[in-house]
This record gives sequence, structure tokens and C-alpha cells, in this order.
Amino acid sequence: MKAGRKVFTPTASSGRGREADGKDRGKSIAAIVRRLEKAYGPRPWRKHAPGVEGLVQTILSQNTTDKNSMAALRALRARFATWEEVIKAPTADVASAIRSGGLARIKAPRIQAALRAVRAKTGRLSLAFLARRPMEEAKAFLQSLDGIGPKTASCVLMFCYQRPALPVDTHVHRVTRRLGLIEQRCTPERAHDVLGLQCPPKLVYPFHVLMVEHGRRVCRAGSPLCGECVLADRCPSRACSVS
Ligand code: SF4
Repeated sequence: MKAGRKVFTPTASSGRGREADGKDRGKSIAAIVRRLEKAYGPRPWRKHAPGVEGLVQTILSQNTTDKNSMAALRALRARFATWEEVIKAPTADVASAIRSGGLARIKAPRIQAALRAVRAKTGRLSLAFLARRPMEEAKAFLQSLDGIGPKTASCVLMFCYQRPALPVDTHVHRVTRRLGLIEQRCTPERAHDVLGLQCPPKLVYPFHVLMVEHGRRVCRAGSPLCGECVLADRCPSRACSVS
């Protein structure tokens, strides 16, 4: 599809974009992962920084690029020797250290509050319990922290603990809507439940990273390249001229 061409938007009345039922959606997800892995290469589960560092890194990554958030994390670690020091430091000092990550005045108190909450729950600065506790309990704890919603909680669980919690970011939400895996009106928050329950657990990581990659490369927000899309034959939103 040429840049700027209007994409067919499935609606409930059209019948083409109705949410697939759970069983079909699970099969669709498996087929989509196979197709995208063939196009982009396999995406085996990869563990990111675990524990408290992973939580802090995830907070720093909100609304910025990986490059900026990693620079902010490095600066934070260089400025403070321990997480206890981060907790005790004036919030302005923490904000100064993470300035390169953007939204520092919001993220600094958020990080300090998260660290305090972890210590209050476990008696130490450890998140090891997230690997063992039932999924709902782990999610509930993370989402009880200031500024952490379903997406960030799922990022921590999936990237840091390899648990099958599917983060629905803007790319996953947009591409799965276009593919008809979720309804057009499904919010990102609800999509965590709808997709998370239906995605086979072992495919959660590859499905997430492949949806993000496909959303960045081909199924772009403004002008999806449907003519180059390996999913076009199964996509109800493809440009009408694509065969
Ligand atoms: S998934 Fe592919 S065919 Fe469907 S809208 Fe996105 S780019 Fe077009």
C-alpha cells in the first residue's frame, strides 16, 4: 500500500473485523507468530535485567526511547551506589541523575515510591517473589505502585521474570486491532485481558516483540505498508487493492 492510502477499518457490522473467539484467536496468534518469525527471524525468550533494576529500568523507559532510558539508568547507578541511597536521596537529586530519560520530575518520585513499596512488602529490596507468586497477585502488587499500569506490570513480569504476561503497547494495540484479534473499541487496558488470556503462554514473548517490530516496520500508525505485509492475506484491514 502506498503511504497515506486509507485503510479499511473493520467494524462489528461488517462482520470482517469481529473479535475472533478465544480458541480461534489462540490459533491465529500462533499462525501470526510463525509468519512473522519467517519474515523477521526467530524471537526466543530473552531475559532482561531482573529484580529491582528491571523495575527501575521499566519505569525509566516510560514515554521515551530505549537509548534514553538506558542512559538514565546508567547515570542513576553511577550517582548512587545502592538502591537504599536512591530511596534516601532528595528527590531533586534523583531527578537530576535521570534527566536524560525525560519526565525526570515524575519518574524520580515514582522510582523512590516503588523502591519503598518493595522494601515494605518484602522487608528488603528484592522482587524475587514475583517469579513465584500467582500471576494475578504479582500483577496486583506491581499495579499498586504509583504510575504502574497493566503495560508496565506486564513488561516487568515478561522481560525480567519470563512470565507469560503480555504487554499491550501502542504497536500491539494498533496491529491487533487491524488484524481483527480484538474489537475496534477495545481499549489497551482491556486488550491485556483479552489477548493475554488467549495468547498461548509460550508465545507471549515472541508475539509481543514481533507485533512491535511489525508495527514499526510495516503496519505503521499513519501509513501501513499493506502491499509489503506478510499478513495481508489474513488481515481484514488491508487496503482493498491488495490481492
Ligand atoms: S497488518 Fe498488514 S495488511 Fe493489515 S493493516 Fe497492517 S500492514 Fe496492512
